[in-house]
Amino acid sequence: MPRHDYQGLSFWLETAGEPLTPRRALSGNVTVDVAILGGGYSGLWTAYYLLRDNPGLEVAIVEAEICGYGASGRNGGWCSSRYPLHPSTLEARYGADVARETILAMYDTVDEVGRVCEAEGIDADFRMNGILSLARGEAQLAAVQAAHAAYERLGFGEGNRLLGEAAAGERVRVSGIKGALYTPRSAAVHPAKLVRGLAKAVERLGGAIYEQTRVRRLRTGADAALETESGRVSARKAVIAAGEAYLPKMPGFERALAPMSSSIVLTKPLSEAQWNEIGWSGGEGLGSQAHTVDYLTRTADGRILYGSRGAPYLFGSATEGAEAAFARTSQQMRRQLTGWFPVLRDVDFSHAWHGFLGVPRDWNPSVNFNPATRLGVLHGYTGRGVSTTNLAGRLLASQVLGRETPLARLPLARHRTRPWEPEPFRWLGIRYVQDAMKRMDAARDAGRPPPFDAPLAKRLSDQ
Ligand SMILES: Cc1cc2nc3c(=O)[nH]c(=O)nc-3n(C[C@H](O)[C@H](O)[C@H](O)COP(=O)(O)OP(=O)(O)OC[C@H]3O[C@@H](n4cnc5c(N)ncnc54)[C@H](O)[C@@H]3O)c2cc1C
Repeated sequence: MPRHDYQGLSFWLETAGEPLTPRRALSGNVTVDVAILGGGYSGLWTAYYLLRDNPGLEVAIVEAEICGYGASGRNGGWCSSRYPLHPSTLEARYGADVARETILAMYDTVDEVGRVCEAEGIDADFRMNGILSLARGEAQLAAVQAAHAAYERLGFGEGNRLLGEAAAGERVRVSGIKGALYTPRSAAVHPAKLVRGLAKAVERLGGAIYEQTRVRRLRTGADAALETESGRVSARKAVIAAGEAYLPKMPGFERALAPMSSSIVLTKPLSEAQWNEIGWSGGEGLGSQAHTVDYLTRTADGRILYGSRGAPYLFGSATEGAEAAFARTSQQMRRQLTGWFPVLRDVDFSHAWHGFLGVPRDWNPSVNFNPATRLGVLHGYTGRGVSTTNLAGRLLASQVLGRETPLARLPLARHRTRPWEPEPFRWLGIRYVQDAMKRMDAARDAGRPPPFDAPLAKRLSDQ
């Protein structure tokens, strides 16, 4: 029996083209080679590459709700070639060579998602539309130029082109646009069709998926297993924690990630006249330089999806209990979209939803398998997981299978993020930084100097 109205969780799940009937739940004890907690992109990509590269391996996924219940069924649909860290941060932390390899690996990752969709017959509306990072107002221009300079220094200036006001305005008529960074090698997808299609591909390769089965405890070592109320999945080789923003609820992972919400509002399909005024015929992913983050997608059926970091961080890394805050956020976002496109003053909105993404303390994802404890983890993509989970899944599969891969040199391989502070310091710190980011945006938009504590907020956010 469905426990949630799964179709009501997002426009994407509603239009995935299937009734989302839950698969069978776990009942009793089974033993497999690899047991995976979580049926989002992370768990499914890991299972996919394990099974594809090693037919005969026994792999089971245990999902608390249905595949795609989490961020994978609710996101903005950017399959971006941008790694979660800014290119200049990558260079400063890991050196120019590793930064270059990471950028190349991300280009290949976007291509790989498209390749698998093609090979597996996953009709996820994959479109190589690119991304436009806009400068909205003069004050945002410096951030666009700095990103371009970092790409150029690393030899990727051509793939990340600086557009002036006129060239950017030819692509899309957003108010106040002063320029843009254009990255052609990024795609857009229908997120839920991707995650649901991937689950079917995993099953075709022989993987077992148990849905509506919550893992209560993850055991490592000689008796590695996922324990649930209706049975146990023991693992001869590996147990994988792929629960992303929900992982801090599991004993042992409380401080591994901080769940941050992201909210989305969606218009009804626009009229031809509205699209003619807006332009945007290339359908690129759009974002500005706001510290509070915004992202816009033109859907395949002619709507505008507008996303932004959602309600403030919830005490104790909670992922429930903020409905009023989400309703307020959606209300503000509907107004903000009119600021982007004044022609949409009277536009009708059809959907609003939110989800949670996992943020590690240093904003760099981690992929680790320890053969001694048999524990594998992959998480912490911030808001860049649609593509990066594929890279992480391939890397983790090769670690579990003990195979060499050039991906092992990348910054997420064997990375260990320091844990988040215990509560209440975590709550105080994150709420302070979230508030400072809002104040920094407000000051920049109003042409005022940044608040006095901007350097402190940036240092605390460790980006
Ligand atoms: C609103 C929103 C917009 C976003 N937009 C973008 C975007 O445009 N581009 C981009 O690259 N990224 C975006 N992201 C981030 C991206 O969606 C995620 O990084 C990615 O989906 C993470 O996949 P995952 O499999 O690791 O996690 P999830 O998809 O969250 O999957 C984790 C799964 O684990 C399950 N689970 C958790 N705990 C348990 C348990 N105890 N037992 C069993 N199962 C459990 C959950 O039910 C869930 O299905 C967005 C995220 C959100 C929330």
